[in-house]
Amino acid sequence: MIAISSPKHLVVFGRPGSGKSSLAERIGTDHGFRMVRTGELLRTAIRKGDALGAEVESILASGNLVPDLMVFELLERDLKAPVNEKLLFDGFPRTFSQIPLMERLEKRMGFRVDCFLEIAVSPEEALARMTARRVCPHCGATYHLKNKPPKVEGVCDHDGERLTTRKDDNPEVIAVRQGVYDEHMSPVLNHYQTNAPERFRRVNGEQSFDEVYAETEHVLGFSKT
Ligand code: AMP
Repeated sequence: MIAISSPKHLVVFGRPGSGKSSLAERIGTDHGFRMVRTGELLRTAIRKGDALGAEVESILASGNLVPDLMVFELLERDLKAPVNEKLLFDGFPRTFSQIPLMERLEKRMGFRVDCFLEIAVSPEEALARMTARRVCPHCGATYHLKNKPPKVEGVCDHDGERLTTRKDDNPEVIAVRQGVYDEHMSPVLNHYQTNAPERFRRVNGEQSFDEVYAETEHVLGFSKT
């Protein structure tokens, strides 16, 4: 495997419940990435209560995907060209048809993704984890009752807000989201694995959070071990 020299533009993939967002958050904090989280951009649009927010709210609540171009527009609004910061994408591209949109974004903003990272977790393990997820409705920080609990039970470490569960973390919606991931992400992962193997990395997500993080730092070239 060719070593990656500390990526500057990174995409993280993982099924719902893989721990992807918590992991991405920690990589971002420790290594100075600006987070680009499409799920969070969409939830911010919902919190704003504008026309776009109303449109996407019911889609998110159902567990289905938002139209590609809507996500692309939100990304374009969020990013300013030329991109001078390190970027970590969490949640995009999420369908095969978003791959060319990512390429368009790279051209327009003047950057190139230098690593695609998959956090591999079985559907069964993901399911068990999702039922224990808690989120901050104010800042979007995510916690896990067992693996990543807040310092004070039920309260966000960052802003003291009461933690809640995500609307799309109920059993029916969880099943839809897992199905959507399998259907749409398999072709995306196959694409990068086949066409950009030197930029594709996979870590075993079925370990403790710290172990997954250590393996991630290792495969990304952030640690010497
Ligand atoms: P996440 O926080 O990444 O789990 O995303 C939550 C929800 O936002 C998903 O279930 C989708 O409805 C929507 N979403 C996030 N990213 C995308 C994307 N790239 N394309 C379409 N829908 C998305």
